[in-house]
Amino acid sequence: MFVVMEQGATDAQVAAVIEKLVTVGFTVHRSTGVVHTVLGCVGPKEDIIDPRNLELLEGVKEVHPVMSQYKLASRNFNPAGTRVNVRGVEIGGDAVVVVAGPCSVENEEQIERSAEQVAVAGAKGLRGGAFKPRSSPYSFQGLGEAGLKIMQKAAHRHGLFVVSEVMDHTQIAMMEQYVDLFQVGARNMQNFNLLKELAKSRTPVLLKRGISATIEELLLSSEYLLSGGNYNVILCERGIRTFESYTRNTMDISAIPVVKKLSHLPMMADPSHGTGRRDKVIPMARAAVAAGADGLLVEVHPTPDQALSDGAQSLYPDQFTELMQQLRMIAPAVGRTL
Ligand code: PEP
Ligand code: MN
Repeated sequence: MFVVMEQGATDAQVAAVIEKLVTVGFTVHRSTGVVHTVLGCVGPKEDIIDPRNLELLEGVKEVHPVMSQYKLASRNFNPAGTRVNVRGVEIGGDAVVVVAGPCSVENEEQIERSAEQVAVAGAKGLRGGAFKPRSSPYSFQGLGEAGLKIMQKAAHRHGLFVVSEVMDHTQIAMMEQYVDLFQVGARNMQNFNLLKELAKSRTPVLLKRGISATIEELLLSSEYLLSGGNYNVILCERGIRTFESYTRNTMDISAIPVVKKLSHLPMMADPSHGTGRRDKVIPMARAAVAAGADGLLVEVHPTPDQALSDGAQSLYPDQFTELMQQLRMIAPAVGRTL
């Protein structure tokens, strides 16, 4: 950590700050510049000191922590990168893994058709929500356990793993019977009680970035899972809320290389929620793979115009097939396979 003193800070102020730092366990290296005195602090306590408390001391201009608060999620913890095994499919390895399917599980026929279509096009996982976090309580809320049964049967028959959202810790034990990868949705990224319970599970977790979460907050949320013992964690950029209203969210493609540098965890991208518009999903999916995403989560529906949720951002099956063909050209250009 570095403490930068105000221009003109007195020797007494500098001495008082040094004394405070030494008291809490730091070794302090003082560097007196022409304008500012800078105190370089080395010690085990950086992560439990709130820099704002130091900034309140007389004569202090600013405090810059060097160490991140996330330890287990940091790339230093596993420089080679983590590969998460989801029902035999490795996420975070050379291959870009595509998960596709409808927003919600609606009925058996819809899921059966979805599973077949996305499997033929080359997806490895089937997505579909059985518990839906809807902004309005009057919107379709999902089929619950009955929906998960439908998902599992169709997905496994077509050699796909099952991804579905868990909204509450009371659903974990039941869902584990059906789901190969738990999705934690944007609205629950900071539901710390849910994360602590998922940390006790060994089923992999796909943790989506919250709508107004910083990258640091996303990594700190993943730290709840890792520190609780579940190392099977995959992160996902799904767009954030900004002042731009043309698209449903602003797809933060730059989060992909940022996270890949800061963390060893695999990073996926969801261009469907990231844009909210079918015509923008395909270019953002291509961009995400080009930017280094380890996988994609894409909404595809056999008849999007009749979908019970997120129809406007769901691809027609033919569009998904075409996207996969394009990704087969993009992935090798950035050293990946598909
Ligand atoms: C979803 O995947 O259908 C979903 C609700 O995602 P998010 O939590 O990113 O909004
Ligand atoms: Mn959706």
